[in-house]
Amino acid sequence: MSGANVQRERPVFDVCVIGSGAGGGMAAKVLTEAGATVAMLEAGPDWDAQRDSAMLKWPYESPRRGASTPERHFGEFHAGLGGWSLDGEPYTVGDGEEFRWFRVRQLGGRTNHWGRISLRFGPDDFRARSKDGLGDDWPISYDDLKPYYDRVDRLVGLFGSEEGLYNDPDGIFQPPPQPRCWELAVKRAADQLDITCIPSRLSILTQPLNGRPACHYCGQCGRDCGTGSNFSTPSVLLPPARSTGNLVTFLGAMAREVTVDSRGLATGVAYVDTATGREEHVRAKAVVLAASACESARLLLNSKSALFPDGLANSSGTVGRYLTDTTGTDVMGFIPSMRDGVPHNEDGAGGAHLYMPWWLDNAKLDFPRGYHIEIWGGRGMPGYGFMGGIQNYPGGGGYGADLKQMYRSY
Ligand SMILES: Cc1cc2nc3c(=O)[nH]c(=O)nc-3n(C[C@H](O)[C@H](O)[C@H](O)COP(=O)(O)OP(=O)(O)OC[C@H]3O[C@@H](n4cnc5c(N)ncnc54)[C@H](O)[C@@H]3O)c2cc1C
Ligand code: SF4
Repeated sequence: MSGANVQRERPVFDVCVIGSGAGGGMAAKVLTEAGATVAMLEAGPDWDAQRDSAMLKWPYESPRRGASTPERHFGEFHAGLGGWSLDGEPYTVGDGEEFRWFRVRQLGGRTNHWGRISLRFGPDDFRARSKDGLGDDWPISYDDLKPYYDRVDRLVGLFGSEEGLYNDPDGIFQPPPQPRCWELAVKRAADQLDITCIPSRLSILTQPLNGRPACHYCGQCGRDCGTGSNFSTPSVLLPPARSTGNLVTFLGAMAREVTVDSRGLATGVAYVDTATGREEHVRAKAVVLAASACESARLLLNSKSALFPDGLANSSGTVGRYLTDTTGTDVMGFIPSMRDGVPHNEDGAGGAHLYMPWWLDNAKLDFPRGYHIEIWGGRGMPGYGFMGGIQNYPGGGGYGADLKQMYRSY
């Protein structure tokens, strides 16, 4: 049998979805439930939180106390298989540029370990240019998107509180967990300074939903949740997609190029089987790129043909340009009143119970837009690197019993 015949006998899927993270998982669920047959290509291996989550592991169960490894840059118990560099997937940046590209490779992508902070864009975020003359307005408004936010909230489940803040719209919330000791201390100070400080909005269940149990407050969402109480694609989106019988998942399938016919329409995706190194092809009438923002752009640029010499969907030449990112930084402080505190139950969700949405009036500031503040603190399990830098604390450091006492005290 010739290669051409073999090719013809392969099934033609309605849609090929590249990537199984937040974007790919939702595309697969919606499409399969609408009756489409879907081939999902995922570059990484399988990930199943019930089997793979290290949610309940103690640091001493590892000789490295959970330190990072080349395969898991956030630590060996962390649910992200990858980091800022991936074996066999190098990248370069322009002269004088600095860009650290965080990537994971596994079923569910970053949804297995993201912070679960689930905030809606507000009305002003859709008309930023009209407000401050920078960037562009969106062609849709918050009201256009609101019904979809509502649907996602009902499907995913998140906690929060109804605050009625104009540009931080309320969602459909489950009750938020109580703030912990350090959070109450920060909240007290924020109230005195007139800084808005409200319950976080996290995709973590505080009540059972759609067969998933409520969180039992182990505080380890970064390791993924073995009970499926927080949101990840494999726990929430893929089971209903699979139950339609319309989803076929290809693991270890690194998409290389979207193939097109002589009219320029997609015919499928060429991918590399990472186990054999062989090039394969999956046939589909339509292709959804959901391999993460940069990788999806790379795939479009990689998909060159006589019809599209600069890559697919790139007649403007803007694919892969004008990238922006969500930047973050952290500041650490020490609250003296919490020193020598009485050990008590600090269990909670794996994320901040309180946060500060943008609270200032931009008209009175010399910069546009804003930021939010997430609060972290409390006693963690003493794993690798625990309280590193204690010598920098007032009176900190020391040796032997003194050092141990300092750890307890701080
Ligand atoms: C540590 C961390 C914390 C975060 N916390 C938050 C938060 O609290 N709130 C928030 O809103 N956002 C958060 N984010 C961001 C959020 O996780 C991402 O924006 C979101 O998951 C992106 O979804 P995605 O589907 O585009 O990509 P991903 O989730 O990265 O999925 C892409 C998938 O495609 C696969 N893939 C890549 N290339 C190929 C290829 N060539 N062929 C086949 N498959 C491929 C990958 O293996 C991966 O599974 C966080 C991110 C990180 C890293
Ligand atoms: S804190 Fe809750 S949601 Fe997070 S891993 Fe633990 S039980 Fe699951």
